[in-house]
Amino acid sequence: MAKDLRTYLDELLAEHPEQLKIVEEEVDPEFEATAIVDKIERDERWPGFPAVLFKNIKGSDVPLLLNLHGTYERVALSIGSDVANMVPEYSRREGSPIPTTLVESEQAPVHEVVYTGDEIDITRFPFLVHQELDAGKYITSAASVTRDPDSGRLNSGIFRHQIQGPKQVGFMSNPAHHTSYILRANRDLGRKMEVALVIGHHPAMLMSAVSKLPGIGGELEVMGGLLGESVEVVKCKTVDLEVPAHAEIVIEGIVDTDPEKVQNEGPFGEYPLYYTRLGPMPWLQITAVTTRKDPIYVDVFNAHREHLVLGALPRMGSMFRRVREVMPTVTAINLPLSGIRSMAFISMKKKVEGEPKLAACAAFTVDPILKHVFVVDDDIDVFNEDQVMWAFTTRFQADRDLTIMPNFLGGHLNPVTYGWHREEKGPQETKLILDCTKPAPPVTFPPACRVPPDVVERVQPENLLKDYEPGMKLS
Ligand code: MN
Repeated sequence: MAKDLRTYLDELLAEHPEQLKIVEEEVDPEFEATAIVDKIERDERWPGFPAVLFKNIKGSDVPLLLNLHGTYERVALSIGSDVANMVPEYSRREGSPIPTTLVESEQAPVHEVVYTGDEIDITRFPFLVHQELDAGKYITSAASVTRDPDSGRLNSGIFRHQIQGPKQVGFMSNPAHHTSYILRANRDLGRKMEVALVIGHHPAMLMSAVSKLPGIGGELEVMGGLLGESVEVVKCKTVDLEVPAHAEIVIEGIVDTDPEKVQNEGPFGEYPLYYTRLGPMPWLQITAVTTRKDPIYVDVFNAHREHLVLGALPRMGSMFRRVREVMPTVTAINLPLSGIRSMAFISMKKKVEGEPKLAACAAFTVDPILKHVFVVDDDIDVFNEDQVMWAFTTRFQADRDLTIMPNFLGGHLNPVTYGWHREEKGPQETKLILDCTKPAPPVTFPPACRVPPDVVERVQPENLLKDYEPGMKLS
């Protein structure tokens, strides 16, 4: 049986039944679903920050699944791993892509129901208004499939889509992302861009769409690598694209690439945890909607933990793999959630002076939104921010170890980015390398303090420590 959303939910329920909660009562799509997930995040009555299936969103017959990707435990499970091993495992699977398998429409669950022409009305889906100042309802969970006109390859990425009518959604993409290169290539050819928004599948679909792959395209093959099996794809009904056949919902459509064909989009809560990017953007004119008989609409909670976790693991996996191609002495990479995936902690077993800067530069080339890179020695656990800050404070001297590089293409949704004129808004930012490594041998550096490990191993406090009792003499 092909892996999909249903098989993943079965696996999750078998291993961690407490991690999926069901809501039967009617819930308002405006703020109520996200408020419920927001409220349970740090409440120990619901350990593991569960995903929530809302079966009755007001105004829709379709159930809504929120926060599926909200913890590292769940995304690690989806690649058969655990939190301690997920980055190298992601990296290994991403590096083993599997070609897709084309199936006929009759074999594709996502073609069980097809809407075209006047039958199309996407407002029947349980789209949410998520955050307080969001411009309205948004699709947050679509793998956006397009075809590169140069190579003919399919590309996939995740973007935000404002609901603008029964047959129209906004189309905003980061200027640094492959989808924007495909849009501009179509514009240069005087063509419109065909798009398929694929919603609801195994977590491997959205993670592959976030992977930072060399060149344009290849995400569906990486999805197969993550799953360990070829992804079955089906030809779309109204556009020349192929989409995963076991998805829940596919929205097909056309983006007019004429720079004049834009309308205001946003504001919307984004991964930097601010509302950013209100401005003219293209839109997607919908030409078909296809679904399963009983689809589940999957939503990703923007500007919240799910948005960051889903964005971070694939980036860490891609970066670990591609940076090690340049600098094999790199031992681990973390994109801490506090740094909204734009800050990296990289550890390495430095052999030669200067290696840390090369590793950091390799990381910048993997992902344009990466902004601040801390490089530490391999005795530092990059998943422990206290240890990284200790290395930063005791092994780093700003005039020697800080490198400042202005005018790089960056994360346009980060509020501090700038344009060619520094006073203008634009997608550029200044990159920092913070080399927090000790000098390479033979230069000496003081050893870090520790109690002898063999003695720590030997002593047994559980047999020695007693509670104080009244009357006990302290001297
Ligand atoms: Mn791509």
